[in-house]
Amino acid sequence: KPVVIIVVGMAGIGKTTFLHRLVCHTQSSNIRGYVLNLDPAVMTLPFGANIDIRDTVHYKEVMKEYNLGPNGGILTSLDLFATKTDEVILAIERWAGQLDYVLVDTPGQIEIFTRTASGAIITEAFASTFPTIIAYVVDTPRATNPVTFMSNMLYASSILYKTRLPLVLTFNKVDVARHEFALEWMQDIEAFQAALDTYSSSTSTLSRTLTLAFDEFYKNTCSVGVSAVSGAGMEAFFGAVEASAKEYMENYKADLDKRR
Ligand code: GDP
Ligand code: MG
Repeated sequence: KPVVIIVVGMAGIGKTTFLHRLVCHTQSSNIRGYVLNLDPAVMTLPFGANIDIRDTVHYKEVMKEYNLGPNGGILTSLDLFATKTDEVILAIERWAGQLDYVLVDTPGQIEIFTRTASGAIITEAFASTFPTIIAYVVDTPRATNPVTFMSNMLYASSILYKTRLPLVLTFNKVDVARHEFALEWMQDIEAFQAALDTYSSSTSTLSRTLTLAFDEFYKNTCSVGVSAVSGAGMEAFFGAVEASAKEYMENYKADLDKRR
């Protein structure tokens, strides 16, 4: 069975560019991929998608029809698409024997996928049918700010605990800033607290408390540095995906079978 990689992350951190890179990598390495675009508002896709949400819902028309703003339009488009989740799963299952990976791009604004019923329906449908992992993409240059780093870890851990799926912390844009500082902060709480000391004491105290809680989260995730632009880190990324797929089989799948 193919491994499903759902790419999520804050707006503008490079999800779509990263997905394009994954598509190029799979094509040049003879890895068989199936590509899904779930962003109804993307103008031009740099890669060819096997299933594109824009083929079934037109978000500008949804905005007009339901009298919505851009965010409401994207949200409602995803709701409409989620009603077809069964068909999507069936379409992928038909090809399953010939696929290694299913690559999924999600809407620009992270909460539209990770904080909605539709996002949960789509994620759970994948996770109950195929080994599924989340690639949480981080903008590495911005995360050099310890407060931004902390808010990213907070968001990523909330996704981990909500979905229970293995999560790969994917530090993107390493062509601009290397991600070693992040690895150090995750391994060494003291180093992270030292970085925080330059901030106001209230921020620093809050983050200190959170940091201790994150220890467990860090132990349960893989971290890799990549560049969607230069192509650095692809081998490491797919290595982390393999490890995560194994974890899916050992934990998530075992739980799923128990519940059935
Ligand atoms: P999305 O909203 O998360 O899908 O982000 P996009 O893929 O549309 O990318 C947003 C911007 O980040 C674009 O201008 C990309 O060229 C840029 N970008 C994406 N990945 C990288 C990277 O690895 N390095 C650099 N330098 N820029 C990147
Ligand atoms: Mg995008």
